[in-house]
Amino acid sequence: MEPTGSPPPAGSDTHETTFQRENRLQSGVYAKRELTIVSGKGAKVRDEDGREYIDCVAGISVANLGHCHPKIVRAITEQAQRLITCQEMFANDVRADYLERLVGVAPGKLERVFLCNSGTEAIEAAIKFAFVVTKRHKVVAAMRGFHGRTLGALSATWEKKYREPFLPLVPDFTHVPYNDLEKLDAAVDDTVAAVLLEPVQGEGGIRPGDPDYLRAAQKLCRERGAMFLLDEIQTAFGRTGTLFAAEHAGLDPDMLCIAKSMAGGVPMGATLLGPRVVGLPPKIHGSTFGGNPLACAAGIAALDAIRDENLCERANELGKRAAERLEAHGVERIREIRQLGLMIGVELRDKAAPVLPKLQEKGVLALLGGVNVLRLLPPLVIEQDDLDAAIDIIADVLSQPTEAPAAAPPADAATGGRAS
Ligand code: PLP
Repeated sequence: MEPTGSPPPAGSDTHETTFQRENRLQSGVYAKRELTIVSGKGAKVRDEDGREYIDCVAGISVANLGHCHPKIVRAITEQAQRLITCQEMFANDVRADYLERLVGVAPGKLERVFLCNSGTEAIEAAIKFAFVVTKRHKVVAAMRGFHGRTLGALSATWEKKYREPFLPLVPDFTHVPYNDLEKLDAAVDDTVAAVLLEPVQGEGGIRPGDPDYLRAAQKLCRERGAMFLLDEIQTAFGRTGTLFAAEHAGLDPDMLCIAKSMAGGVPMGATLLGPRVVGLPPKIHGSTFGGNPLACAAGIAALDAIRDENLCERANELGKRAAERLEAHGVERIREIRQLGLMIGVELRDKAAPVLPKLQEKGVLALLGGVNVLRLLPPLVIEQDDLDAAIDIIADVLSQPTEAPAAAPPADAATGGRAS
């Protein structure tokens, strides 16, 4: 492992920790945990004192391949020596290769791609494209759904605390209960441009969509002239035990949004387009960095690694094993375990935020998924022994008597456990 970060710049307080320096200089929008991570390998990260942690956060499902996967490191090192940037006004060999590879593995009939740099941008593009194609402007999304934080994507995001400071947002976005076909049926008429759903709600507490519900939602959209948009930003690239979660229900979305793990940790996003997405005029949308060769090279390497290392099967097997192992501990405080691949939600009978610092103390990093759900998104390359160890630590921490709430809530309590 590499030594710690660079020394403080001249003139700064040399007694300040890295954590304090960041807090002093950052915008303030992140509620940080008091941990400075300086390196990572596979499913482990290390802090500046050399202490190792089992990483069940994985950058919120970014590090599906683990940290510093050798194929990703090699791909970006080689591509960086050849060409890093190439705006989409020009073609590029690596981009064309990547587009072919991505479309080749995509579910349904997705046949073209808009490349961008993050999840929220992928959603933003999908919403804009749906408006253009249908000439309608209403969007139906789900309660507990999370789709990003730019104004369009935020309009589809459900949680009040993210939305309220920015109201009125984009007009004509409504939210219906997830997995409730009757309510969706009532909300989607022939003036709706798009229905936007996650196949498994991640931020909302690891809530898998009922395959019948998701298929019926798609059918409703087709019947009423709306676009069926699937947000696979957290679920794609093996996370749920298949390359795309859409495969569990055999879905054929009109647009599919991806980001997070698609380029092995290098920022990248994409909106995949099906045959109903026609007539997008030139210049209707765009991105300066989207489709840059560096990210495309990493994207190809990520697809290679997922295939060569059978990471979908691995996620499937390890996820089941982890859920069974946790179940077997018989922890009273656990109300329900929800799991699809290595997307694991542990719903508690009480608040989950106080658990995070205790896990961290014992060398396990985890997330929240709403107020009472502990969310585990370990890298798909995690060693079985490490996952077993993490599960046993979680069971142990959850079995300890709960304390009366402290005066100041842990940093994550205010953000639902998101580090972003
Ligand atoms: N959609 C889902 C399902 C997500 O989980 C996230 C991020 O957590 C986003 C959209 C937004 O992605 P980004 O943070 O890359 O903008």
